[in-house]
Amino acid sequence: MFNREIHFIRSLFSNSSMIPLHEPCFAGNEKKYVTQTIDSTFVSSVGEFVNRFERMICEYTGSRFAVATVNGTSALHIALILAGVQPDDEVITQPLTFVATANAITYCRAEPVFLDIDLDTLGLSPKSLDLFLKKNAALKEGIAVNIHTGKRISACVPMHTFSHACQIDRIVAICNEYNIPVIEDAAESLGSTYLGKKTGTFGLMGVYSFNGNKIITSGGGGMIVTDDESLAKRGKHLTTTARVNKSYEFEHDMVGYNYRMPNINAALACAQLENIDLFIQNKRELASRYKNFFHNTEMTFFCEPDGATSTYWLNAVLATDLTLRDLFLKETNHAGIMTRPAWKLMNTLDMFRHCQKDSLENADFIEKRLINLPSSVRL
Ligand SMILES: *Cc1c(COP(=O)(O)O)cnc(C)c1O
Repeated sequence: MFNREIHFIRSLFSNSSMIPLHEPCFAGNEKKYVTQTIDSTFVSSVGEFVNRFERMICEYTGSRFAVATVNGTSALHIALILAGVQPDDEVITQPLTFVATANAITYCRAEPVFLDIDLDTLGLSPKSLDLFLKKNAALKEGIAVNIHTGKRISACVPMHTFSHACQIDRIVAICNEYNIPVIEDAAESLGSTYLGKKTGTFGLMGVYSFNGNKIITSGGGGMIVTDDESLAKRGKHLTTTARVNKSYEFEHDMVGYNYRMPNINAALACAQLENIDLFIQNKRELASRYKNFFHNTEMTFFCEPDGATSTYWLNAVLATDLTLRDLFLKETNHAGIMTRPAWKLMNTLDMFRHCQKDSLENADFIEKRLINLPSSVRL
């Protein structure tokens, strides 16, 4: 049934028999920088590439401060702690996301609250957020409290799905009315913009991931960005075992985390970031090929939302229904083309089933229909 589609996708990635969903592209200084760390022996927790990568991310995103971490999940964890999330608090997020978002909230022993997404962004819906807060939240001595559970609502974590910006300006404006700090999960959207500004730089903090499947990779890695100097300083302290700066003594002033990005990973990341503009150009070109191809077919190509410029980290199409989605997944994977469905919604996973949620009509609709397509940079 999908022979035409299979043939087209094959033609885009002509060189390989198995076409992966997303593979990294090493075409620059990767080997050179990684070799430098090996030659110098500084592959681990000391070395200049970490500082260099943090400076590069600041320059690239326009954020004032950046704290590198061992992965994106740990960056989310620390950002939530820095925002003041405490055990028993509630944290608003979306059900359509990678499990790391909800996991990080749980690491703080807080509870995720799942609100619906918008169909045109796949990200947290400002309308659902506004309605939920109007119905459930009140400010008590400057702190947002859920009047039905009595718990603090201490953060909101919208996610820019597959690199498409959600309506982050409206989300921040609504949260500001309730003094709720916004942490953007921009793990998938490094390089994407909304209203001309980089995703990850709208909220109090933003978080990126450099896992092997992301637009640039450090092997594994993450980053917190913020314009707030004291948050950045505390973030650095917390991610580096809270060591008090002394030359050879080991002294720590609180229970910190060993979340520092190793220098060898930062070396790889620096080389990758040097090429990000090329990657984005290449991926946007691929997206436009997909868009033209799927025009007037049963699959609807998911385009960047109004006001956004997306990197098209992972391309996506929407099938007309679940049956067609499953058939497409089956036939393409059988033909060696890696496609995959959206994540199972977080509220349907055992460990989050009990969490509060609102009507999740749009998330349900998308989960049944969405398919991610091979999206690697093509050399
Ligand atoms: C990749 C990703 C993360 C972080 O993942 P790590 O593998 O820990 O770097 C967080 N949130 C989302 C939405 C992601 O896609």
